[in-house]
Amino acid sequence: MAALIRYLLVAALFASLGLVLGSSEYGGHSANQLYRAVENPARTALDRAVGGADLAARSRVLARYPELLPGIISNARIWGDYSRAIAENMFSRDDPQAIADARAKTRVELVAPNTWLIRMPIVNAVLFETRDGLLLVDTGMAPAGPALVDAIRSVSDAPLHTVIYTHGHVDHAYGAWALADAGMNPRNIIAHEAIIPRFERYLRLRGSIAHYMSQPVEQLPATRDDIVWPTRTFRDRLVLEIGGETFVLVHHRGETDDQLYVWAADRRVLASADYWQSFIPNAGNGKRVQRYVEEWAFALREMASLNARVLLPGHGQALDDPAEIRDNLLVLAEALQSVVDQVVAGLNSGMRKDQVVASVVLPAQLAADPRLQERYVGVRDVARMVVHELTGWWDDQPSHWDPSSPERLAGLQVEMAGGLAAVDARARALMDEDLRLACHLADQALLAAPESSLARQLVLDVYRRRILTPPTPAAGTHAAGTPTQATLAYLDHMSRALP
Ligand SMILES: [Zn+2]
Repeated sequence: MAALIRYLLVAALFASLGLVLGSSEYGGHSANQLYRAVENPARTALDRAVGGADLAARSRVLARYPELLPGIISNARIWGDYSRAIAENMFSRDDPQAIADARAKTRVELVAPNTWLIRMPIVNAVLFETRDGLLLVDTGMAPAGPALVDAIRSVSDAPLHTVIYTHGHVDHAYGAWALADAGMNPRNIIAHEAIIPRFERYLRLRGSIAHYMSQPVEQLPATRDDIVWPTRTFRDRLVLEIGGETFVLVHHRGETDDQLYVWAADRRVLASADYWQSFIPNAGNGKRVQRYVEEWAFALREMASLNARVLLPGHGQALDDPAEIRDNLLVLAEALQSVVDQVVAGLNSGMRKDQVVASVVLPAQLAADPRLQERYVGVRDVARMVVHELTGWWDDQPSHWDPSSPERLAGLQVEMAGGLAAVDARARALMDEDLRLACHLADQALLAAPESSLARQLVLDVYRRRILTPPTPAAGTHAAGTPTQATLAYLDHMSRALP
């Protein structure tokens, strides 16, 4: 059975690349037939695993090492439905496949009276109908704009009164272009004031953002006209009266410096943006700018105190049990706060930053909580983000203040070790006892001899093992496989080492 699954996954992988398998057929079935035969969740998870502009390179690694797939797929199942075309074209307003996927996969759920959760692939929007028209919270990714318009019109003909961006990320604020195209012109688009410099930064850092997000650079906004700007901003808190109802917008920095949540007080419905997720959230992603972990925890506690009847997160499914909502918010707040407190204590004690990060571990009860799995980033990644917020850029290593180049250092170390073969042998011996150390040696080998097939194979073998070996969990904790962001960094490293 396991062999069959592996075989199907490999077939799916090739088919997802639009390639025909080498022998063109497996057991009388073409790759595309096999691909269709793979159960849909596995297939979409597979697409997700190899998505982004690095698709081809990542796929080459996975075709060679299909044993990496199950763990990747398991951790990729954290965000509702998925579309590879959308994930590869998040900023595009005209990619036909992405637009079609969004239309095919968007669902509208009635979650409270006159309240809908619009579940687009990967991300949600929230729609409130009031006596004076519609209040829309978030707008999805750019190619999901037309699907969003369809979704709204499928439940209400009322005019669009107001749009709110919970923050300026591509998955929340970039579908708005389609509203105006469809003649749905709201009186206001409201966001936190920090969204303005955020959007300006996006224009300025276009190439860098495309690189770290694995998106085609030509699709990212190039001029101010490519962005749908808010028409009204606020600083701390904004109370809206629409159709005789109260909607409270509350800002606390968290995943971004412009994040806000929306409290529909009369309905007791909370649109929680990206503050809450059902795993350790994106508070420690090394490819992203600063996150504000302590304010994030504060926001979660504040939201818990509202005693919401319905929670509508920016990603994932709605929750409608008030006790569960409160408990979920508080558990995540406690975990984030614990990381912050440990980092602060460690920094104050004079430990080096690497020692501070290495010492952080969730208290046993939290570490065992299934809502705090390290599926996307790890707890230590969050600790690194806190260190980054609270201190300077130096890592406390004197030679790193103004270092030599990594290539020169690696070349010298390999030479002193007696050459590449010696480093290779030592790294392989270390794979069972200290995988982190083995990764350092593999990196040194590749830096010293980037064209060496020995060094390249060492990188492939060591990082293959690294992806297959989750960071050692404390007793009783939920090991969820190597977190997605680390896995992608390792996978991309492997793809560059392929022959
Ligand atoms: Zn999001």
